[in-house]
Order: sequence, then structure tokens, then C-alpha cells
Amino acid sequence: MQATTAVPHPATDPSRRDRVLRAAVRAGLIGPDHPTAGFLDVDGLLTTVADLKAAFGDAPVLHAFAAKSTPLVPVLRLLAEAGLGCEVASPGELALAVAAGFAPDRIVLDSPVKTRAELARALALGVAINADNLAELARVDALLTAVPSASVLGLRLNPQVGAGTIAAMSTASRTSKFGVPMTDPGARQAVIDAFDAYPWLTRLHVHVGSQGCPPELITAGVGAAYDLAEEINARAGTRRVTGLDIGGGLPVDFDGDTMSPSHADYVSWLREAVPGLFDGRYELVTEFGRSVTAKNGFTAAVVEYVKDVGGRRIALTHAGAHLATRTVFMPDSWPLRVAAYTAEGLPKGTAELPHDVAGPCCFAGDVVARDRPLPELAPGDLITLLDTGGYAFTAHWSYNNVTRPAVHGFTTAGGEVRFTTIRAEQTTAEILAESGADLADDLLALEAAPWR
Ligand SMILES: *Cc1c(COP(=O)(O)O)cnc(C)c1O
Repeated sequence: MQATTAVPHPATDPSRRDRVLRAAVRAGLIGPDHPTAGFLDVDGLLTTVADLKAAFGDAPVLHAFAAKSTPLVPVLRLLAEAGLGCEVASPGELALAVAAGFAPDRIVLDSPVKTRAELARALALGVAINADNLAELARVDALLTAVPSASVLGLRLNPQVGAGTIAAMSTASRTSKFGVPMTDPGARQAVIDAFDAYPWLTRLHVHVGSQGCPPELITAGVGAAYDLAEEINARAGTRRVTGLDIGGGLPVDFDGDTMSPSHADYVSWLREAVPGLFDGRYELVTEFGRSVTAKNGFTAAVVEYVKDVGGRRIALTHAGAHLATRTVFMPDSWPLRVAAYTAEGLPKGTAELPHDVAGPCCFAGDVVARDRPLPELAPGDLITLLDTGGYAFTAHWSYNNVTRPAVHGFTTAGGEVRFTTIRAEQTTAEILAESGADLADDLLALEAAPWR
């Protein structure tokens, strides 16, 4: 079950990455005036999408890309054109998906905490909704009595198959906050009863977790949802459950340049564990995020200073917790590869010594790599954080109001490297506006008194 196959892919070619970085320096996209930038590999994204679609073959599948992984409208538009759908989990993400041009019937709204207004809007649009719990089903039912809807409606299950190696990424543990806990007393029957009570309910949803969840855990979760669907349909004597949304969560290789496990590996594991899934009786939905984006992007940053502290070599760079939040707070779970370049964007030599690669945020833990063997870094050099096309520079954290970097898409099709900017670097004016600069006097105007 564990065998994996590495698939050839443009994003796994280090010399191509080197060429892109060199071209980015020449184009002025990274350097003293722009000390950080994010880069997204358009050829790589399209190759990944093709691999994903091929892996599932002819089965009728809606691959709803998990927007949170790279929530940029131009990326969503590219993926829509490439034939994907979109999984969203907030009003903001839903707005992005609509702006990107996804048809409502290719959008899936998840999220464990939806307001009535959010549900009403989604029902009015006709996007698919997966309710998180039985109380949410009751809300949907009440809304549907007022306004009919074209939405396909599902219920998220927590198959409680256990946690992976990263607790914070494991959504199917016994006590996870997501979905209906299937093995808790009475819960399974309550789901069966819900299908009796709500004729509009036609889909079951599971998303077992993300990075760190082994394939057996994911396929066991999907299998549990499939078994329940079979049971509901057998009892009803009719196809009450017509669709299964099997979530995302395929882990990626943060240690090296392989696309492994591949989407094809995942499908072969699923075929083995849950053969009935593919016989055409169920409409399938997937929700991959990280496996589509992470390896198709990197972060570049300037090294500002280098110093020796207590026997350690510390490179003070512009890449920190604002761009690699998970890595900084959970360094053991989310290690990132770092590559070193000269200011001209040429790969640095091979003689290595251990560096701490620190960022610009004002707290001591703002270190993206510790004791990492790297060619000796000097001020003005560049570093890249690899495999950060998802959940990194597109999930920026505004701590210290460090400037949100530009994001550039690139292609090497035709030989030459070409860029297009898909998110501009944040300006100081934007930081001021988002920080209440036009409301500067409002606390004074409140005329509050000292409290005693
Ligand atoms: C985050 C999330 C995904 C995507 O997970 P990846 O690990 O990026 O594939 C899919 N579905 C739901 C419900 C999610 O919360």
C-alpha cells in the first residue's frame, strides 16, 4: 500500500529554479528594493492539474481546489480554466472563487462555523455546501423552506480514524472539532435519521487531515464514509446518498525534489481500500490544496546581515514568521528547505557551515531554519524557501506589519523565463489604511475617563 512512484515534473528540477531566480534578479523582482517575493510556477501548476485529472481517469470527479492553500484570484482563474472546481471555507474565499469565474455548481463551501447569512448566500448562489453538524442541517432546512436552492447539500463526517503526526492538521481524531463524530454513541444513527428527515441531503463529506496524515488513515476515513453511504442507501432501498466528497490532504515531500506520493499513488491506494468508490455509483468530489500548490512555488528573500552569536552563525534575512508561520512556530513539523544564492542570483558554492536563518519579526523565535548547513552567507545574498507555493506567502501573517511581498507567476515555456505579477507588494499607504490611520482621533473623541 505504501509504494510510491515519482512523477517527472518541472518544479522538481533545481537547475530550472536557479534559472528562474537569476531571471527574477535581472528583472528587479527580488533585491534591495524588494527584499522578499513569492514565485508561483505556472507550468508546474498545470502539470500537477493534468496529473491529478489523469490519476482519477474517466470517473466523474469534481476536483475542488482548496482555495485556502493559494487564495489568489489569478491562480483560481488559471485552475478554473484548467478544469478544476473550488473548495472555499469563508465568505472571503467564496468571493474569490466567484471573482475567479467558477460556476456555482463547481464551488463547494465547507467551514465548521457558518452564519445563517453565509448559508443563505451560498444557497442563493447554488454552491454545494457541506454542513459541519446536525444543528447546521436544521439551519439549512429552515432556510430552504423560505427559498428554494440548486445547491447540492452534504454532511461532514468525522470518521474518528485517528490522528497523523501533526495533531493540529489531523481532523479525524476522536475529539476533532470537525464533522459529526461517527463512532460516538448514537451519532451514526443520527446521521441515518438525518437522511430520513431531509430529502435534500444527498452527500457525505470527509477530510481526514493534511500534511502528516498517512495514506492508510485517509483511505480508512474515506472507507468509513463510503460504508455509511452504502448502509443508508441499502436501508432506504433507493440512492439517498448520491455523492461522496473525499476531501484533500495528500501530503507532499518537503525534504526533496520528488512529487511523491503522487495523486496516482493516492488513487491506487483508494482503489485497493475502497474499490466500490470508483464504480460510477457516486459522484466524487476531491479537495486537494497542498499537493497542487506547495511544490509549485518558492519564496525569495534578501540576507540583510550575518552575525556570530554565542558560537552560532545567524543570517538575518527578510524571510520570517510572516511568510512561513507554521515553520517558525512548529519547526519540527514543518521544516523547509533553504537554498543560497549570490546577490546576482547565482547558486552559492558548496562549502557549507551551519546557519540559523532568521527573519525580520521582533520575537526571538522568528527563525525559519536552525543549524542548517548552507554555503557561507553574506549580506546582500539571497535565500529561497522551497515548496512554499501553498500556505506560506499566500497565507501571510501581518505581525509587525512587515510588508506583504509581491507574488509573481512564471513560465519557462519556450525556453526563456517570463514573469507576470499577480499580487503587488503591499504599500505603506495600505498598511496605514488597514491600521486605522483615517480614524486616528477617534479614541480621543470617545472622551473616556480614567477607570478606578
Ligand atoms: C484544508 C482543507 C483541504 C485541503 O487540504 P490539503 O492538505 O491542502 O490538501 C480540503 N478540505 C478541507 C475541508 C480543508 O479544510
